[in-house]
Amino acid sequence: MHDQNGHRCIICGQHKHEGIFIVSEFICDACEVEMVHTDATDAKYHFFIDQLKQIWVQKNA
Ligand SMILES: [Zn+2]
Repeated sequence: MHDQNGHRCIICGQHKHEGIFIVSEFICDACEVEMVHTDATDAKYHFFIDQLKQIWVQKNA
């Protein structure tokens, strides 16, 4: 499904045009950059991983 407003980012929930797809889910540029720069010990990193886990769980359900 293509949306004139772009794709809905699974991390921030905003509609963006620039970003990447992981397991067919969209992650905007801003969140992708943030993920890359987030340290594994940072609480936010676990938030990102949790978001991604939810996708994988859904895909495997
Ligand atoms: Zn985002």
